[in-house]
Amino acid sequence: GDDSHKKAQQFSGHMMGDKSEAVSSFATSKTIKEQRQFLPIYACRDELLGILRENSVMIIVGETGSGKTTQLTQYLLEDGYGDYGMIGCTQPRRVAAVSVAKRVSEERGCKLGDEVGYAIRFEDCTTKETIIKYMTDGILLRESLREPDLDGYSVVVMDEAHERSLNTDVLFGLLRDVVARRNDLKLIVTSATMDAEKFSMFFGNVPIYKIAGRTFPVDILFTKNPCEDYVEASVKQTIQIHLQPTPGDILIFMPGQEEIEVTCGAIGDRLEEVDGAPPLAILPIYSQLPSDLQAKIFQKAPDGVRKVIVATNIAETSLTVDGIIFVIDGGYCKLKVFNPRIGMDALQVFPISQANANQRSGRAGRTGPGQAWRMYTENCYRSELLATTVPEIQRTNLATVVLLLKSLGVSDLLSFHFMDPPPQDNILTSMYQLWVLGAFDNVGNLSVLGRQMVEFPMDPAMSKLVLVACEMGCSEEVLVIVSMLSVPAIFYRPKGREEESDAAREKFQVPESDHLSLLHVYQQWKNKGYSSTWCNTYFIHYKAMKKVREVHSQLLEIMEKQKLEVTSCGNKWDIVRKCICSAYFHQAARLKGIGEYVNARTGMPCHLHPTSALYGMGYSSDYVVYHELIMTSKEFMQCVTSVEAEWLAELGPMFYSIKESVHSIEEGKAKAAERRKQMEQELAEAEEALEAERER
Ligand code: ADP
Ligand code: MG
Repeated sequence: GDDSHKKAQQFSGHMMGDKSEAVSSFATSKTIKEQRQFLPIYACRDELLGILRENSVMIIVGETGSGKTTQLTQYLLEDGYGDYGMIGCTQPRRVAAVSVAKRVSEERGCKLGDEVGYAIRFEDCTTKETIIKYMTDGILLRESLREPDLDGYSVVVMDEAHERSLNTDVLFGLLRDVVARRNDLKLIVTSATMDAEKFSMFFGNVPIYKIAGRTFPVDILFTKNPCEDYVEASVKQTIQIHLQPTPGDILIFMPGQEEIEVTCGAIGDRLEEVDGAPPLAILPIYSQLPSDLQAKIFQKAPDGVRKVIVATNIAETSLTVDGIIFVIDGGYCKLKVFNPRIGMDALQVFPISQANANQRSGRAGRTGPGQAWRMYTENCYRSELLATTVPEIQRTNLATVVLLLKSLGVSDLLSFHFMDPPPQDNILTSMYQLWVLGAFDNVGNLSVLGRQMVEFPMDPAMSKLVLVACEMGCSEEVLVIVSMLSVPAIFYRPKGREEESDAAREKFQVPESDHLSLLHVYQQWKNKGYSSTWCNTYFIHYKAMKKVREVHSQLLEIMEKQKLEVTSCGNKWDIVRKCICSAYFHQAARLKGIGEYVNARTGMPCHLHPTSALYGMGYSSDYVVYHELIMTSKEFMQCVTSVEAEWLAELGPMFYSIKESVHSIEEGKAKAAERRKQMEQELAEAEEALEAERER
C-alpha cells in the first residue's frame, strides 16, 4: 500500500509539484487519426458541410465531447474555407481557448501559432500563417471595433453558446447584422444543450443540426438529507468510491479555486489515514492554474492508478476528459453578479441550475455506464434550483460593453437587438457610470476621452487611469501599475513560511499606497535584470511577473499607436496618487477607526486588507480610493491608495464637496442620488428622442 500511494502522489500535480515522468501521453494505443474518426461528429462531417454550403448561418447541437470544438474548424479548413479568410472559433473561457488550440495543433501536427493559433487578452499566439484561430469571445468583440464586418474571417464558429456569456450575447446582436451585410461569411453557433430553437429563431429560423451522441446511462444519486458541508460530503463520497474495486476516474465539481484546493488537500489527508489504500492521482483544474498543470488532467495515469479531477464548471462543457465514470456534483458554482451593496460586480457562490446539474451528470456517461452523485436532495433539485442560469447580460455591470457598442456606432442601446435584453436599469446605470468617468457627455454621446478609453482592452476606470496619466505626466509609472493589476497573484505565501513571506512583501511597501507598492516591486525587479532568483527570494511568482512584462509591452504598443506619450514623473509619486484618485474617486472611503473605513458615498463599512501597505503601519489616511472590493468574511478594499480630501472634491465634484464629505454622509448620499436620477432621466430622454427621430 505504502509504495503505490507514493506513486500516486508523484503523479499528482497538486500535491507534489511538477513531476510528471510517471505519466504516459494520452491514448498511445490509438493514432490521432483513429481518435478523430471515432468521435460522433465524424459521421456527420459531409452532411454538416453540405448544409453550410446552402446556408450562411446554422446551429449545431451536440453532447459535450462529440467533437464540435476540435473538429469543426478542421473540417472547414479541409473544405476550403481557409482559402479566403480565417476560420475563427470563439470560447467564453480563456482556458478552453488555449487548451483546445494546443490539442488541434497537435492533431494537425503543426506548431502552435502557425496554422492553428489562439488569442486571449494580452496573449496573441497567432502569426500570418494562422488559419484556424481560437479566441475568447471578448477578443472577437474587440476585433469588430477595427473591422466591423470581420473581413479577415470566412467562417466564425461561436462555440459554447449555451453558456450565454456577456460577450457572446453582444456578438450575437452584432453578427446578426454582419451576416446580413456579408454573404460570403458563414456563421456556426454551437451549443451543448437543447436550447437551440431560441438561437435559430434569433438568426431568422436557420437550420439546427443535432449530432447523434453516444452516451451511456448514468445513475443519478441524491443525498437523502440536505448536507451541511458540500466539500466535506464530496470528499467522503470520493473516498467511498475509491475504496471500492470498480475502476473508473472521478470528476468532482466545486465552485472555485479555494474550494478545489481544500478538497484536493482533504482527499489526500483522508487517504493517508487508510491502511493499504490503492493509489489515487488528485488533479485540480481552474482558470488560474498554470497551464502546464492544467494539461495534466488530459494525461493518462499509470496503470492501476485512479484519477480524481477536481474542477470548476470549466469541466461541465468546455473541456472533456475521457474515462470519467463517477461524477460528484457539489451543487454550487461561482457567478459574476452585480452586487448593489458594494456597487460593483463580484464573483459569488450560487446554487447551480438544473441545466448545470444535468450537464455535470452527463460527464459520467461518455465511456460507459456511470454514476452521478449529487450532494443535494432530489427535492432541492426539483423545487429550489432554477431551470437554467440567468444569462450574464442580465446580471452584471455593462459599462465595458456599453462603451464598446457606443463606439461601434450603436447610438440607441435600448433598442439594440439583444437575444435577451438586459434590464433597462442596468443599461442606464452603466451609462451613468460612464458619464461619471467622463466617457459620455450629458446627452449620452461618447466624449473624446471615451473614444480613447475604448482602445484599451481593460475596464473603463483602468483605461481612464492610463489616459489621465498621459495628461499628468506619469504614464510610465501608471502603465506599470496597470500591468501589475492585470495579473493576479504576484505574491505567494507558502504554508509554514507565512511570516517569512509576509516580511518579504513588507520590504516593498510604500506606506501610503498599494498601487505604489506594486510599482516599487516592478522597478526593483527591472533593476535586477528581470531575474527569476530575485523573485524566488522575495516570494514573488516569476511567471506572474513575466506576464506583467508582456502586458506592459502590449500596453506600450497601444500607447504608441494612439500617439500617447510615455513620460515619467520621476520620484514625485504624489502625482501618481492624484492620478489614481482621478480615475477611482467613485470608489473612495473615509477613515472611521483603525483599519476601518466607510464608503464615502454610501456610508457602507469597508476594511483594509491585512496585506495592504496601509494596514497597521501607523499611517492612517483620512481618505483612500480602492481598486476593487472583495467580499469574503467582510468587505475588503483591494489595492488602496491614500488621497487628499481636496482631490476628491476637485476630481469628483458630482459626488463630493469638502463640506459634505467631511460632515454629512447622509446629505451627500441624498445629493448623489438626486444627481444620479437627474442624469438617468436626461439619458433616457436623449435615448427616446433618438428613437423618435429614427421612426420619423
Ligand atoms: P465538444 O466540443 O463537442 O465538447 P471536443 O472537440 O472538445 O468536443 O472534444 C472531442 C474529444 O477530443 C474529447 O472527447 C477528448 O477526447 C479530445 N480532447 C479534447 N481536448 C483534448 C486535449 N487537450 N487533450 C487530449 N484530448 C483532448
Ligand atoms: Mg466544446
